[in-house]
Amino acid sequence: MVPQPYEYRRRELVEPDWTRFPGWRGVTRAEWESAQWQRAHCVKNIAQLRAVLGDLVDERFYEDLAADQERFATMSMLVPPQMLNTMVPSRVDTDAFYADPVRRYMIPVASDRRTDWPSHPYATRDSLHEHDMWVAEGLTHRYPTKVLAELLSTCPQYCGHCTRMDLVGNSTATVAKLRLALKPADRYDAHIAYLQSHPGVRDVVVSGGDVANVPWRQLESYLMRLLSIETIRDIRLATKALAALPQHWLAPEVVEGLERVARTAARRGVNLAIHTHINHVQSVTPLVARAAQTALEVGVRDVRNQGVLLRGVNATASDLLDLCFALQGEANILPYYFYMCDMIPNAEHWRVSVAHAQALQHDIMGYLPGYATPRIVCDVPYVGKRWVHMVAAYDRELGISYWTKNYRTSLESSLDDADVEGRRYPYYDPIDTLPPSGQAWWRTSSSTRASEPAIVPA
Ligand code: SF4
Repeated sequence: MVPQPYEYRRRELVEPDWTRFPGWRGVTRAEWESAQWQRAHCVKNIAQLRAVLGDLVDERFYEDLAADQERFATMSMLVPPQMLNTMVPSRVDTDAFYADPVRRYMIPVASDRRTDWPSHPYATRDSLHEHDMWVAEGLTHRYPTKVLAELLSTCPQYCGHCTRMDLVGNSTATVAKLRLALKPADRYDAHIAYLQSHPGVRDVVVSGGDVANVPWRQLESYLMRLLSIETIRDIRLATKALAALPQHWLAPEVVEGLERVARTAARRGVNLAIHTHINHVQSVTPLVARAAQTALEVGVRDVRNQGVLLRGVNATASDLLDLCFALQGEANILPYYFYMCDMIPNAEHWRVSVAHAQALQHDIMGYLPGYATPRIVCDVPYVGKRWVHMVAAYDRELGISYWTKNYRTSLESSLDDADVEGRRYPYYDPIDTLPPSGQAWWRTSSSTRASEPAIVPA
């Protein structure tokens, strides 16, 4: 065999032994596999984390975590045992915990953040302007034929880099969250009414938050109402819980309900899929594979992964390929997208440049089956997802890339097509990744910058 930059070897999935953590020494398999036990034992604060880890991690880590929660965190802490168990799978000590890729995005600490540019000057709370594009509460109409339906604003787990940090989760010391105002039943009625009156919308991403936090009966009723609209042809359920809390998707009530929905979708010729969010190979365990397999067995057409590209977590070709081979080869989950981390506050240590993302896309080509080779995408404000090689112009010195689009969002209904297609929309690389001259430009120009990114006519 010719030596290759990446050497594939099949690796069996492993459920790390949770009894290695002092707080879970007596936890039985039956408890571990119970969704109720998992939800009741989520780690929500430092005292609970300390109770699980005992003295395996020393005080400096907890102080670092407390500092982060006080000064930087945009998401509150919520980590299901399943997810915590995928951290430090082989050695538990302070250094290993600091270095762990899953810890780095689920339990961020102050020393992870950048001190030079913790936030990009153009970072914003709702960086994708999803809220601005609401056509009903929680219903974002950004692409011509697709909508995003946010059914609720909670998840069973909170990721430090959450792009919906504006709305999702509890308020933190630095971020007061928006609140959904309508009662769920009224919100869902408004979504259904909009979709019934807009036959050009054929595809609904049912999300949140995470649909695993919608009581099953409510979710099933919403999905059955979507399925009764003849113009809806694709439905995707967005749930990181498939990986963070697979026990939920294995609970009998959920499996039986999912089967009813999947059978109805199949009868009506609608593509029903689950989209999950897994960022590192450590999180792909036998329970996760079982949850994905069960969804497929009851008739869900596909389970796909939309990961987020994060510095310090997965931003190397071998990290991405290890994850994709585990997903595709061992867990029946299709590697679909990796999103570049969005420009939210305090995220610069996670973000990578467009050039870095392009190099990663290049380096992962040719290893996986073509249909299972994920696309790395940049979600450009006011535009939407663009493959990272679709950049129209790119100033590498200042780290400003320019992107075009071929449709209008609900914000641009008054523009004509020439205006929309002629515009170029900017996106910004993390400043610390720029050459010294570019970094100096941002330092000196920061006092004269406009508060909003400039959209430039071509
Ligand atoms: S699961 Fe998704 S919506 Fe929930 S916190 Fe994580 S990134 Fe945000």
